Amino acid sequence: MAKERIFLSAPHMSGKELSYIEKVFESNYIAPLGEYVDKFEASIKEYTGAKNALAVSNGTAALHLALRILGVNEGDDVLASTFTFIGSVNAILYQRANPVFLDSDRASWNLSPELLNKYLLECEKKPKALIVTHLYGMSADIEKIADICRVHGVYLIEDAAESLGATYKGRHTGTFGDFGIYSFNGNKILTTSGGGMLVSDNEAYIKKALFYATQAKEPFIHYEHKEYGYNYRMSNVLAAIGVAQMEVIEERVAKKREIFSWYEELLSEIEEIDFMPELPHSRGNRWLTALTFQKTDPLDVMQALESINVESRPLWKPMHMQELFKGARSYLDGTSEALYKKGLCLASSTTMSRDDVVAICDTIKNALVE
Ligand SMILES: *Cc1c(COP(=O)(O)O)cnc(C)c1O
Repeated sequence: MAKERIFLSAPHMSGKELSYIEKVFESNYIAPLGEYVDKFEASIKEYTGAKNALAVSNGTAALHLALRILGVNEGDDVLASTFTFIGSVNAILYQRANPVFLDSDRASWNLSPELLNKYLLECEKKPKALIVTHLYGMSADIEKIADICRVHGVYLIEDAAESLGATYKGRHTGTFGDFGIYSFNGNKILTTSGGGMLVSDNEAYIKKALFYATQAKEPFIHYEHKEYGYNYRMSNVLAAIGVAQMEVIEERVAKKREIFSWYEELLSEIEEIDFMPELPHSRGNRWLTALTFQKTDPLDVMQALESINVESRPLWKPMHMQELFKGARSYLDGTSEALYKKGLCLASSTTMSRDDVVAICDTIKNALVE
């Protein structure tokens, strides 16, 4: 029989999820609202240090709420990392604003603070906001980026969908900007099967986000509406899963980092391989181990891994290369395109053993070009 498939990042339950869901069923608070939504928000606040949190249906919805509350509207420019997943930037289109894509730097593989600063000094029209992604769970150069945004009066939204548990100078990614978002989609470091969290130190922002996330009902007993809203709240059932998952977040980060350290140990002697760097003063969660090859075609490695039933995947195709954004402006220096063409994400499920990683590394070594 074929060996069980190893996924990039499989869901990994703590064991408490079902008992919490049972409690939800006993209370009959199945629908949105209920004590587990409050508990989940409280655990995120406690863990990340964010002052306010709102549990929502997914990370994309959290980003949409952030843009709406910051007043991003039709015709506004919104800067974003080009090297990211589409979920980071779809909400810019929901608001009919114009995305402007910025390239990464080699030091972080994330948004380049130098390019950001240069853009803001040169641009004719000041952008309203920046959405910066902490890719693959690794912190961007966020302190510098936050300073630049402050100096130029640009709102900062951190897409920390992949980086729950990652810190910069001990402070959690997602807590440097006006807003941060986390995702609990099926393949993230923690999952509620689908879900998201919006965080901000600004209490009024999160109150407003709750208003929009629950159909923008004015505070009357009858149904009164002056603005349009969304149905974006997280259900109590899923929040119960989230509470159980949060109890093991540090274990999951430690295991992801251990998996990375095994890959590093077993592959670092290969000259053509470079791993995604971790910035000084930061701790990444190493959601997915990401690397580049200098000579070997990453698709050949992917095929070899497929033959032993192991999932791997090219790095995210930068947004400025997508047909969807062919009319969008971008500010580039070739970094993300080069990384994309040479890069691969390796299986990093927290259920993996060292033997799994050894087998994967043997297969990679056999697939390298001479
Ligand atoms: C997963 C992800 C999102 C979207 O989160 P969902 O909960 O799936 O909507 C946004 N940005 C990045 C970088 C992601 O990886």
